[in-house]
Amino acid sequence: MNADIGLIGLAVMGENLVLNMESKGFSVAVYNRTTEKVDRFVGGRGAGKNITGCHSIEELCAALERPRKVMMLVKAGGAVDALIEKLMPHLEEGDIIIDGGNSHFPDTIRRTETVESRGLLYIGTGVSGGEEGALKGPSIMPGGSPAAWEHVRPIFQKIAAQTADGEPCCDWVGEGGAGHFVKMVHNGIEYGDMQMICETYQMMKAGLGMSNEEMHEVFGQWNQGELDSYLIEITRDILGYKTEDGEAVIDSILDTAGQKGTGKWTAQAALDLGQPLTLIGEAVFARCLSALKDERVAASKELSGPDGNFEGDREAMIEDLRQALYASKIASYAQGYQLMRAAAAEYGWNLNYGGIALMWRGGCIIRSVFLGKIKEAFDHDPELVNLLLDPFFQSAVDQAQAGWRRVVSRAVELGIPMPAISSALAFYDGYRSARLPANLLQAQRDYFGAHTYERVDRPRGEFFHTNWTGRG
Ligand code: NAP
Repeated sequence: MNADIGLIGLAVMGENLVLNMESKGFSVAVYNRTTEKVDRFVGGRGAGKNITGCHSIEELCAALERPRKVMMLVKAGGAVDALIEKLMPHLEEGDIIIDGGNSHFPDTIRRTETVESRGLLYIGTGVSGGEEGALKGPSIMPGGSPAAWEHVRPIFQKIAAQTADGEPCCDWVGEGGAGHFVKMVHNGIEYGDMQMICETYQMMKAGLGMSNEEMHEVFGQWNQGELDSYLIEITRDILGYKTEDGEAVIDSILDTAGQKGTGKWTAQAALDLGQPLTLIGEAVFARCLSALKDERVAASKELSGPDGNFEGDREAMIEDLRQALYASKIASYAQGYQLMRAAAAEYGWNLNYGGIALMWRGGCIIRSVFLGKIKEAFDHDPELVNLLLDPFFQSAVDQAQAGWRRVVSRAVELGIPMPAISSALAFYDGYRSARLPANLLQAQRDYFGAHTYERVDRPRGEFFHTNWTGRG
């Protein structure tokens, strides 16, 4: 009997995904460049299971049911291109190559075209949820050759996380690089969600002088309501965690953030597509600023500002912080969806926006109750221009905005940086402005560069120039 699917790349993600597939009743053939890992896996974690070890790509391809489905879970970049080249001679028309790594979407667009030009099919899929998700049920976001989906769907939807009401967190995203694009936006949104939570933590700790125990309690309460999400839950647990010696580990961790680049890709895509993805952009820059530790320590001895101690009603401020976090989160997802709409128009993808929210509902880092509301918003109006205009979210922001504004103004007064939460509010105020000061900006451009401007009293597309200085 040939195997249902082949998998290349037996590092943490690959091994766990193979075990997940096998546990759901699929037979899997596996290969890894360093072949000792094949033997170690098949004889170890994979022992006694429906898993066939292969020592070459040729052997792997010969071991598969047709149309063959070969999934790569290898280091993103050149390794994927090299493997595609090695695989193609051993595949036949209609066979499917799948890339489950964190590839950049332009690479996936290019690879889909290359593979399709050889009569084969290609899927570039986001797989989110880390190693535990891979084993127990990740969120899976596939895109590429539409004809491949019916063959891969039974496997992917079975191994994906399932929502509480039994829906798989996996559906077809769209053509070409759509799957990897949506996974990239997911990662960007993850950057934003994390940064917003960190900003509320900073206000609680530096502004309100709260202890870890108090913050642990507050995040625990927040996790019972509309902010219920994986990231709030782990924040609660992190703040409550102590070693056997009673050390609160959170207080010993150096305040410099790492990043692997997917947040940067999201911000770059937003700049390329001319979309105001301000919150995620600020979240990426906040990590960059955090990394300038030595400079910050030196500057802290030189530069003055308020001392950051909050005086006033602490309980009221904690509730305001909850509202600021909720409203900023709505603005961030509104921006993320706006970016996906712009990408869909640019690349000709027919994205299912409600389906995307459902895919993120379970299995992945940004999973939350909130995503159910986004799904409902797009079910209610698939053509929704902006999430902020959905009646549910409009009223949610209405209720939260007084607290949101108090938080931002107090943070400014206290000198506590809140780049994500405050930029989200600025975006909200900009988006709801029928008139922005870009009239002055256009005048400046016309003044120094004769770039011309349109007039409010004339049809769009008619351009005017003024000789501002009277000089010839
Ligand atoms: P990884 O450390 O990114 O990659 C290691 C695997 O890639 C090994 O199997 C390695 O084979 C193989 N490889 C590297 N260069 C190769 C080449 N030139 N030809 C063939 N194989 C090559 O592994 P990972 O952490 O399991 O991640 C796999 C993919 O999933 C990556 O794209 C990653 O970004 C993505 N991802 C990871 C996570 C996570 O939590 N780790 C979450 C989501 C997505 P050898 O054993 O021979 O070196």
